[in-house]
Amino acid sequence: MRARIRKGLDRRVQECENVLLREPEQYKGHWHTVFGNNAPIHLELGCGKGKFTVETAIAHPEINLIAVEKVENILVLAMEKAMEAEVRNLRFLNIDAKNLTDIFAEHEIDRIYLNFSDPWPKKRHAKRRLTSERFLPIYRQILTENGAVHMKTDNRALFDYSLQSFEDNGYRLEHVTFDLHHSDFKDNIMTEYEMNFSSQGYPIHRLEAYLK
Ligand code: SAH
Repeated sequence: MRARIRKGLDRRVQECENVLLREPEQYKGHWHTVFGNNAPIHLELGCGKGKFTVETAIAHPEINLIAVEKVENILVLAMEKAMEAEVRNLRFLNIDAKNLTDIFAEHEIDRIYLNFSDPWPKKRHAKRRLTSERFLPIYRQILTENGAVHMKTDNRALFDYSLQSFEDNGYRLEHVTFDLHHSDFKDNIMTEYEMNFSSQGYPIHRLEAYLK
């Protein structure tokens, strides 16, 4: 990244220090102290520009939300939204989801959201999908006993793959729909990708996967 752009980005990230947690490994095993309460903690992996995460935090003050995004110049847009909205129950991590077990102890997380995760269509990249056999055991480790993964995508190939992968890795599927916007699911909060794909007429797929 060119120095001038880097400097501008650093300054913007700095201004979001109230919502960004640096060196998050230090909170492993005592995440509740970050929020100062014992409310359930939900995690969004790959929050993008943060529409879903900020609107979810506002709609659910009774939960704590942690949003993960590995690309810093996308994350900063999400953090700026959160700062603007002055939400108290939301924090951000600039990490790769593959490192989650360095950051969360066993059973610290009550729910994981995967919204429009990268499909990685090539078979040789399948392990990079956030619903692959590489990631599902990680989620199992950090989720509470009654915890669940809530997934949405427009990508039918990724969705079909994920249905199978959750089953193969010992999860129980519930509330599976291939057309969320014409289902009886209430209180859906749309993501940026969801707005974009659904406005082009693509159906949105959704599932919940519980630990057995
Ligand atoms: N959830 C948003 C963005 C979807 S695009 C929406 O629905 O609008 C997927 C996002 O996930 C991208 O911003 C990408 O940088 C991020 N991402 C992909 N793999 C990731 C990983 N392993 N760890 C953290 N973030 C990841």
